[in-house]
Amino acid sequence: MNRPGYIAIGQMEAITEQILTDYGFDPCDKRVRPVPIEEIVEFHFDLQICWEAIDQLDTEGMVMAAIIPDRKQIILNETHRALFDSKIGTYYFTLAHELGHWVLHASGKPYLRSGGELYAYYCRSTSHKPAEEIQADLFAGCLLMPRPMMERAVKQLNMLGAIQLQHIYGLADCLKVSISALTVRLKQLRLLYVGQDGRVSRADGRMEPEYEQLTMDL
Ligand SMILES: [Zn+2]
Repeated sequence: MNRPGYIAIGQMEAITEQILTDYGFDPCDKRVRPVPIEEIVEFHFDLQICWEAIDQLDTEGMVMAAIIPDRKQIILNETHRALFDSKIGTYYFTLAHELGHWVLHASGKPYLRSGGELYAYYCRSTSHKPAEEIQADLFAGCLLMPRPMMERAVKQLNMLGAIQLQHIYGLADCLKVSISALTVRLKQLRLLYVGQDGRVSRADGRMEPEYEQLTMDL
């Protein structure tokens, strides 16, 4: 397999916004709403979503999902179905992450220039991730939380006055993403910073969070 090349955040956002636009979801739309990730996966990319117990694929980490590119199949680990059912944000993020492998690494790269080989990705929940996994996470964050929509959402929150943690939870609910995924994305976009103590502040130019790794919120 080829090692993935570096993908800057601006290039990733161009890819994900093109996908949304191609599907008919305007990332600049006035409404702040969840990206229809299941429909995009199934109808726009013609990938099948199925459930199987796939713990045996890897003994080192907790396998959440896999993509088998030559079968155009995303497999979610049935063992963790209760977790996916209880955390819609984790479910949607996992689908978007697997789609990221399809778009960036596996499908002949319709949204990138060069070709790629087909092979399976088994996606674990571990703290140390290879480059493809970090790229798939970045793809998922950019796809589910498009920059124009996030800027609009934060602008709306700013008009309410001081932004509290409860507003961030409300936004996460509205977008159907986990609070940790949203926190990472807001910081990445330099819009808002949510501290360990739960205080929300405006991000400043000193942070360099572009490739911050997202650890799944389990
Ligand atoms: Zn992965």
